[in-house]
Amino acid sequence: MIKSPKLLNLNSKKVLIRVDFNVPLNNGQVQDQHRIKSSLPTIKYCLKRGASIILCSHLGRPNGKKVEKMSLLPVGETLADLLEMPIKFSMDCVSEDSHDVTLGLKPGEIHLLENLRFHKGETDNDPSFSSQLAKHGDVFINDAFGTSHRSHASNVGVVPFFSQRGIGFLIENELKYLGQSIKSPARPFILILGGAKIKGKLNLILKLVEIADSVLIGGGMAFTFLKAKGKEIGSSLVDDSMIPDAKKILSYARNNSVKVELPVDVVVAESVDAPHSRQTVSVSEIPKGMGGFDIGPETIQHFSSSALHAGTVLWNGPMGVFEEEGFENGTRQLAESLAADGDHDRVVIVGGGDTAAAVNTFGLANSMSHVSTGGGASLELLSGNLLPAISILEKP
Ligand code: AMP
Repeated sequence: MIKSPKLLNLNSKKVLIRVDFNVPLNNGQVQDQHRIKSSLPTIKYCLKRGASIILCSHLGRPNGKKVEKMSLLPVGETLADLLEMPIKFSMDCVSEDSHDVTLGLKPGEIHLLENLRFHKGETDNDPSFSSQLAKHGDVFINDAFGTSHRSHASNVGVVPFFSQRGIGFLIENELKYLGQSIKSPARPFILILGGAKIKGKLNLILKLVEIADSVLIGGGMAFTFLKAKGKEIGSSLVDDSMIPDAKKILSYARNNSVKVELPVDVVVAESVDAPHSRQTVSVSEIPKGMGGFDIGPETIQHFSSSALHAGTVLWNGPMGVFEEEGFENGTRQLAESLAADGDHDRVVIVGGGDTAAAVNTFGLANSMSHVSTGGGASLELLSGNLLPAISILEKP
């Protein structure tokens, strides 16, 4: 059985926690604190139970080299502000100095280690790197959901070095929402899909179309479905190799009474960089040479009202190029309508990656039931695949 922190003996123990502090930085400032805040329940719980804590994480892709702008130091400062306590920091996660700092750590203190990926051994899952890292703790907790679909030294390689090990509250919550609630969702269960790449989400769509009552499709991937239905889509994003799959999904839905809603209007432009050419048109009238970069107002209205009476909504993928001014409306208004209705006990789950980033940018994350911290990991889990860094902790 996989253990939550409540089942671990933490008193006076040194607890090594693999967290996901892979946050966006700009000029040494943390741009989005969502992942750091999401790790606080586990950290606070361990502190309350009399543990000392050693935190390890990666940030970016330094490829085994020390890259100053990918240092976790600014994350340590943000964490210290959030917890209102000092945090010890080591410039190298497995140096002798870092082990000395851990050795001198008292219950209630926190030691943050520098970026794990400054060592190639991390992504190579090198056993000698794992054993050096494991020296920091008596107990191991994995709370880094975002990397749990990868087998790395800090989330898989270290595990055999610990007899006391488990998952943190962040992962527990991800498993509850992305695993359990999807298995037996409150109905109607509405799946909202968007984003650019239909290919990367194919397994998820194939699995969830069997469970969902309705599927609403926006974003770039909608154009592959619209083309599969014979529509002219101008220069909109399309993956021609996926048209046969799109046809299969549409026909499965038709034969199994799953309602599929596609955009009825879209915001088109000559390109995302040409907002002056922007106009809203019906999907039957997309002009040649123009591409759709957002869903239109009528579609927003349809999607919002379909989601209103849902028991469960799972949303993965933005409705348009929300990063660009002028094309964010569909994603923003859909997020607002999902967030608005506080009285309704509808469960709203936002898959990670860009959708989570959008909801965070709009300041609406707290109004959703759950915003996942994992992009690739959330896709894997929702597709029904095992995550190696979690399944290894299920073994006795
Ligand atoms: P994904 O990783 O597949 O969820 O894709 C997310 C990306 O899809 C975001 O960066 C959006 O800008 C992009 N996107 C959403 N709608 C469109 C669209 N209509 N055309 C091109 N890109 C889009």
